[in-house]
Amino acid sequence: LVELVNISKSFGSTKVLDELCLEVKENEFLTLLGPSGCGKTTTLRIIGGFERPDSGKVLFDGTDITNVPANKRNLNTVFQKYALFGHMTIEENIAFGLKIKNKSDVYIKDKIKYALKLVNLEGFEKRKPTSLSGGQQQRIAIARAIVNEPKVLLLDEPLGALDLKLRQDMQYELMRLKEELGITFIYITHDQEEALTMSDKIIVMNKGYIQQMGTPEDIYNEPENAFVADFIGDSN
Ligand code: ATP
Repeated sequence: LVELVNISKSFGSTKVLDELCLEVKENEFLTLLGPSGCGKTTTLRIIGGFERPDSGKVLFDGTDITNVPANKRNLNTVFQKYALFGHMTIEENIAFGLKIKNKSDVYIKDKIKYALKLVNLEGFEKRKPTSLSGGQQQRIAIARAIVNEPKVLLLDEPLGALDLKLRQDMQYELMRLKEELGITFIYITHDQEEALTMSDKIIVMNKGYIQQMGTPEDIYNEPENAFVADFIGDSN
């Protein structure tokens, strides 16, 4: 569904991505896993259209979208800092993108109800983000992304700020959303266990290169090199 072909990107003299290739299939949960600074966020920003590669192509359903702006891609991004609008209520936050698209009030109301039910926060319409816990805010950020009916959700360490129990609940919820809505996920984490639990496919990155790509079982049982073995081993 989404394909990166020979993507390179430098910031100044630092090469962050070097001829990176990857593919995510429809309804697949793909995780980019690797240490801080290895280029995960840059990769996701390039897929989302927030960053232009120096060279290489981004394909969506076989079409070259390298030069298509972020808001014209059928992708939605949730970053670690959930960035809800503080002065708006939850329903206004969720409605924001739909209003821009000129959807009717009835449609928007329906969607808000549906999305809040999906993330188990029914009845939160009139609350302000500051009155919600970090985990609840993160759920709202996900609800806000879902109402736009993206084919692909890009999530950059969405659970990074949450405590262990909430993380586990949210992991379960994201996997449920994948099954229920048929969404394709591209997910960033530096947490080995999280990657092994949630993913259909994992890409282990280091210094702008893919070290290994495979199922959680492949990566865990048959690391292809010392870096992957060490990095995955660290979680035990
Ligand atoms: P983390 O897990 O810490 O978020 P990451 O794997 O997501 O790391 P990136 O954010 O993609 O890594 O960053 C890769 C490298 O590119 C880092 O060395 C970073 O400092 C550098 N970098 C990223 N964005 C920029 C920018 N806009 N300008 C200059 N350097 C940048």
